[in-house]
Formats: sequence, C-alpha cells, structure tokens
Amino acid sequence: MANRGQDWRGGPPAGRQAEQDAITDSESEESEDASGSDQEEPSWISWFCSLRGNEFFCEVDEEYIEDDFNLSGLSSQVPYYEYALDMILDNEPPHDVMLTDQQHELLESAAEMLYGLIHARYIVTARGLACMLEKFKNFEFGRCPRFHCEGQACLPVGTSDVPGQSTVKIFCPKCEDIFYPRSEYQCSIDGAYYGTTFPHLLLMTYPMYRPPKSNEVYVPRIFGFKLHPSAYGNREPAPARNSQRRIAAAPRGEGGAAAAGGGAAGGAAAAAAAAGGKDGQAKEDESL
Ligand SMILES: [Zn+2]
Repeated sequence: MANRGQDWRGGPPAGRQAEQDAITDSESEESEDASGSDQEEPSWISWFCSLRGNEFFCEVDEEYIEDDFNLSGLSSQVPYYEYALDMILDNEPPHDVMLTDQQHELLESAAEMLYGLIHARYIVTARGLACMLEKFKNFEFGRCPRFHCEGQACLPVGTSDVPGQSTVKIFCPKCEDIFYPRSEYQCSIDGAYYGTTFPHLLLMTYPMYRPPKSNEVYVPRIFGFKLHPSAYGNREPAPARNSQRRIAAAPRGEGGAAAAGGGAAGGAAAAAAAAGGKDGQAKEDESL
C-alpha cells in the first residue's frame, strides 16, 4: 500500500491527496467528488474503502468495531493492535507517540489487516450481509467470466480463513466456481478478509438472489466434430458407450465420439485427430 500520509488522522492528508489523484486520474469526475470539497474529511474507513483495489470492502459500522466482543482474539493476530484500532476509529494518537516512517508504514499495514479481519466477521452479520447484498446487486464484485454464465454477478470469497494464505477470489453462484478478480489491485487483497463462508451464507440468507445453476457446458470441436477421448494421445481410455451409437458412427469401431448425425465422416476426423498423437496435439494447441 502506498503512503497514506504522515498524520494519523490529524492534519490534512498530504500523501492521501496525492494518492487520490493517482487513483482517479482516469476518472477525473470521481476525483472531483472525492477531493473537491474538503468541508468534511472522510473517516478512515470511508477513505480506506475508496482506495483502488479495495472496492470489495464494505464500510463496517463503527459501533460494531467499538464493541470489544466483536474483536475478541484479534489482538493476538495483529501487530500494533491498539494503535491500529485507534487509526481505524479515527482516534487521536497519543501525544507522546512519535513514529518513524518505517513504524508508520508497519502501523498502516497493521490497520489494514485489522480492518480486513474485522470485515470478515462483519460481513457474516445481518447488517454486513445487507450491505454486501447491495454491492452484489450493483455488480460491484464483478461478473463471472464464463461465457455460459451470461455475466452473472459474483461475490468475493476467500479460500482460507487464515490471513496470508491466499488472495481473494470471486465466486459465481451460477457455475459455482471461483475466479481471479479482474483488477490486479483486487488480486492482491487477502482472501481471509472475506472468508470462506460469506458468499454461501449470503445466498442462503437471500435465496431469491440465487440464480438457477448453469447446465450448459462448452464442447470443444474440431471442424465441427466433437473430440474423441483418445484424441489427446490415447491417455484416457474411451468411456463405455452404448453399442448402437458406436455402430452408427464408425464401422471400424473408432471415433465413437462423433455426434449421432456425424456418421462415418465424423469417425474419420476423430480417428485422424487421434492418430496425430503428440504432434497432432501440438498443432491443435497452436491453432486454438
Ligand atoms: Zn459462472
């Protein structure tokens, strides 16, 4: 993360302004909105959630963070815990604390981690789920890249609840698979800040937003013919098929994968692909 300014939450955010400019130089209209009026400085939480790459985060209620019960166990996981908590809640730093640049940087990453871990807990509460549902409805977590999912809105998910294990992924409720987020900034966010439970709990809580499962499957074809399972070098044995289709498709007993209407020509094409062996595979890879 870039420098967020030398202040804790005291004076005007020098580094922050620079970062905001960098963030929104391609979206100058938003920049005007975000930094044009300095009448009321945004809270640390609002500011943090507005950073590029942090779009998946929702703003956690300060009351939630102020309740010690919700934070139990986190003090042993996060360095500089007390300071990080003060930073998140915009509490003034103690006057006798002078931080070096390096310490400040460490503190910033500690605050980020603490916020992330609180966030993971918050988004599985009723209020957190409702907040994330709004973002889901607005496609703020991106869409499934799979063609047959037809732009289905996704939800963020972690593959581990332990920080530092893996980055956040997006879960598509239609194909029930996970993908890397589109933005490289989002790809660096820790998956534990969303957790393994969140998207599934959201869809259980709001079942009306659960889309019907996608049954369409992409079928690879070469010159219009499906590929025989043996086409990639005979590694996998051909699955047992019903004898009627085998007879109809290929008199020599090969090329059973041709579509029912494909006939002997399909069998020949599939057999040719199979005969190509490794060279054939390389050519196919090149041409695809
Ligand atoms: Zn999908």
